[in-house]
Amino acid sequence: MASPIIDTEGLTKDYHLGPHTVHALRGVSVTFERGEFVAVMGPSGSGKSTFMNLLGCLDTPTGGSYVLDGERVAGLSPDALARIRNAKIGFVFQQFNLLPRTSALENVELPLLYAGLTARERRSRARTRLESVGLADRASHHPSQLSGGQQQRVAIARALVNDPAVILADEPTGNLDTRTSVEVLALLQRLNRDGLTIVLVTHELDIAAYASRSLTFRDGRLKNDDRTAKPRDAAATLAELPVEEDEAA
Ligand code: ADP
Ligand code: MG
Repeated sequence: MASPIIDTEGLTKDYHLGPHTVHALRGVSVTFERGEFVAVMGPSGSGKSTFMNLLGCLDTPTGGSYVLDGERVAGLSPDALARIRNAKIGFVFQQFNLLPRTSALENVELPLLYAGLTARERRSRARTRLESVGLADRASHHPSQLSGGQQQRVAIARALVNDPAVILADEPTGNLDTRTSVEVLALLQRLNRDGLTIVLVTHELDIAAYASRSLTFRDGRLKNDDRTAKPRDAAATLAELPVEEDEAA
């Protein structure tokens, strides 16, 4: 049997603010199998971002263990964490985080700068990824020349270009209107069906409904872990939504 992609045991994170200690995570044990699409829910301050930062090797836990794709992560040096992060994690953010005066293609190429490829290989891989998110004809556009949905698709192509083991998305539809949000979810669902593991933070039940599993955090603890055999299908939702004029082009 394949090992889980993510396995945490008693994960804790304390923040020290002067004399005070904030217990942001109070012992989270959870396992994600390869190919899962997991939504992370919970009220503000419940520990969602702290949890995602630990999963993404952006921060180190105070206690507990974390195994990512077979590698024991807790306790590694910042350099080792950065190496694992570059190789295994693709990040997608609410604000897209694209470089402004840089083409879509160059934005997607960025994570490959450290991969030891030739310029031609980088370009070719980035182009393939842009095609896979339906943006082949926008390769030379700058972010300001793209809609919000297109910018998020560029960001998803960038997150995928290193062939990561998992995509971590923090409120990826938070800045998008309803139809565009569902388009982004349709893309994520397609990638997930092709085998990609996705962990997505959202505070909207309507968005979490597209995931096959929902975790709910409360006060730094995992309160609920629900699986659904039949998540909503974003492509089907799209077919029922009216097309707006400016999106028809
Ligand atoms: P969420 O993403 O669910 O809103 P967070 O993980 O951001 O929650 O925060 C969990 C708790 O940890 C909150 O009480 C927050 O104030 C605290 N916290 C988060 N980051 C820091 C930090 N860098 N320093 C101190 N406290 C923090
Ligand atoms: Mg947060």
